[in-house]
Amino acid sequence: MLRTAFFTLLLLIHCLVLRVAPASSSSEEDDGSSEQEHAGHKKSHSHHWGYTDQHTWGSVFTDCNGKSQSPIDINTKNAIYDSKLPSIALEGYDLTDQPALTLLNNGHTLQLMLPPSMRIVSGFDRVYYAAQLHFHWGTVEEPGSEHTIDNVHFPAEIHVVHYNSKYANISEAANKPDGLAVLGAFIGIGLQENENYERILSALTDVSVEETKTEIPGFNARHLLPNSLERFYRYTGSLTTPPCFQSVNWTMFNDTITVSRRQLAALEDTLKMEQNQLLRKNFRAPQLLHGRYVVSSFSESPNQQTPKIVPLTETDPSTRVRASTGGLGEKQRGDILAIAFGGLFAVTLLAFSMYAFQQRKKYSKFKKDARQNVIYKPASKEEA
Ligand SMILES: [Zn+2]
Repeated sequence: MLRTAFFTLLLLIHCLVLRVAPASSSSEEDDGSSEQEHAGHKKSHSHHWGYTDQHTWGSVFTDCNGKSQSPIDINTKNAIYDSKLPSIALEGYDLTDQPALTLLNNGHTLQLMLPPSMRIVSGFDRVYYAAQLHFHWGTVEEPGSEHTIDNVHFPAEIHVVHYNSKYANISEAANKPDGLAVLGAFIGIGLQENENYERILSALTDVSVEETKTEIPGFNARHLLPNSLERFYRYTGSLTTPPCFQSVNWTMFNDTITVSRRQLAALEDTLKMEQNQLLRKNFRAPQLLHGRYVVSSFSESPNQQTPKIVPLTETDPSTRVRASTGGLGEKQRGDILAIAFGGLFAVTLLAFSMYAFQQRKKYSKFKKDARQNVIYKPASKEEA
């Protein structure tokens, strides 16, 4: 009797684990509602546009209805590995505190103006000069990255906009098919304050009002991007804000950046846009691929990194970061638990089956003996 109860309990635990594991991963899913991007958009201010009416952008800015729009969802299983993709090399990113950089709130984003001495020297046919970087974010409840990975949003996203050196300036390049190269990276939440991001975020209150600007000391902007630039996705797309020119060669890095919860909250809760409303949820919804494909500089998809994310040893800090941002770590932790309990269950089931078989054999032998001898025998001790 005791044994039956034990096995029933084990079965219950097993079922619970299997149910809980997939549920924990579904909580990170998002409906992917609104969003944007930009480069040299000076005309956009002649028309008011906002993120709440992004489905109407195309009526004024016809390119927004095009077939190579950004952002997109990056389906990691459909990404095509291209071993010939040249790696990205940056130069001039290590700025010193002088000259100062202009930081502005343009009513759509927080933007830092960059000097053309910052450039991409390898990765494309031509050198691309930096022009500006800016951010997309959501709210504490709603993650605000523009691109998604397998339909999952990250809390925020950084875009570093560059223009092709064959053009005189970003305005001339902005509507050319080979005009722009944007380096994008996902921003997640980590335990530590990010000192490099703090150089920008500490000046947020100076630009809280729309169309205001301030100056901040220069710094090494390379540290705003992930440590490794080796693993990335590449596709052709557009500005993610009106006028939505289809002129962007997109690079989205696989490795992420982390800032603290407090730092992200500062970004979400400080800047104002028109009518004194908080500037937040400035992300455009993922656009259809229309036959485009995404290539990757690496062959294994993030979902196949299982051996790297072993939850039992917390030695790898990148593992903790993934897990704390609700990323792949949680899901894989659940999978590993489920497999472990599944295995345990299988072994106990086998043991129980053998035990039951033995008992039945014994019992039938006893019944046989009882029929033959007709003599009363006391119950065997092991029935107790
Ligand atoms: Zn952008």
